[in-house]
Amino acid sequence: MAPADQTRKTASRDSSAAASGDSSAAASGSGDDIASRLLGWYDIHHRELPWRITPRQHARGVRPDPYRIWLSEVMLQQTTVEAVKTYFRAFVEKWPNVEALAAAPTEDVMKAWAGLGYYSRARNLKACADLVAGRGGRFPDTEAGLRDLPGIGAYTSAAITAIAFDQPAAVVDGNVERVISRLFSITTPLSEAKAVIRAHVERMMPGTRPGDFAQAMMDLGATICTPRRPRCMLCPLREDCSATVSGDPEHFPVRLPKADKPLRRGAAFVAVRGDGAILLRKRPERGLLGGMTEVPTTDWTARVDGATTEAAAPFPANWRPAGQIAHVFTHFVLELDVFRAEVNVAAPAGHFWSLAHEISGEALPTVMKKAIEAAIPGATKKPSPHYVKRPHD
Ligand code: SF4
Repeated sequence: MAPADQTRKTASRDSSAAASGDSSAAASGSGDDIASRLLGWYDIHHRELPWRITPRQHARGVRPDPYRIWLSEVMLQQTTVEAVKTYFRAFVEKWPNVEALAAAPTEDVMKAWAGLGYYSRARNLKACADLVAGRGGRFPDTEAGLRDLPGIGAYTSAAITAIAFDQPAAVVDGNVERVISRLFSITTPLSEAKAVIRAHVERMMPGTRPGDFAQAMMDLGATICTPRRPRCMLCPLREDCSATVSGDPEHFPVRLPKADKPLRRGAAFVAVRGDGAILLRKRPERGLLGGMTEVPTTDWTARVDGATTEAAAPFPANWRPAGQIAHVFTHFVLELDVFRAEVNVAAPAGHFWSLAHEISGEALPTVMKKAIEAAIPGATKKPSPHYVKRPHD
């Protein structure tokens, strides 16, 4: 079939998209056709993930553990699957169910979370575990019920409803947005196309296996319909996809140009005692990296002035420059000048000495690990007591 014919065919089938005001072209298959092709592909090509049950298990009546699905989904909020696997295994080894997590000291949970980022999520994770354990250990099985719990928003509630309870729910993450944008050649910028994308997902959702459908969409986006060089020749939805007909699927999703992130600067001070201990302190509970551990730093400011030099050190010492590190936060880029000094003093108020073998177990966010590594290479790399290495890690 000539591309022009295909385009005509795709444009004639999706009346719901046209009715919604979507400026996109429409895919050729009905929702049922697409779901059936996708599920057939998923049965064979699904990813093996430590929190998942396989389609074969699902067919045998095995059901996922809502605790594991919830934990993985919270960890996956803006973090990659690969990064989450190790943390997930360590968490469930240490806290195999929601009651065990609820019984854990918050400090231990924060330490186990360190490195995953978004530390407010760790606090919400613990608060949610406390609440669910207090209600008998059962997670609600509806989107509305789940959304009432701490740290569970619209996306996570839909994902848990679909995956853990196999209930129909439109699960739309970045992978799904990309697949739908391409299937229907949605020309509206992604930030304004969310409702249209959701409507397409709802229309395509099958009457059975909504959980597998949600996971299949995610897997297709993660492994076939990738941001760069989508592997359209291997795609089960190739015949349904208008973007691949256009020859430029990477054009979708359409995005508005990004504004540059502002730059903030500061200084970090790594004080080392004779026995290798490092001086640390805890950040305030509220705010960025709340409750996490850090080396003493100045304020992080857009200004370049005296507040970002060794003049702002927590106490006088022979502070020597140890390099500069950068870290990208959601809303700004941080540059820290790192200083190091050998000292032998009692910890100032609000600070504590962490012994060399304890450093890797501290709740240090990545930016602080970078600062310490700049001053003392290898200091944070010793195996953490929270990390459990498996043969396939
Ligand atoms: S055919 Fe290509 S662009 Fe379309 S959904 Fe499949 S991988 Fe993505």
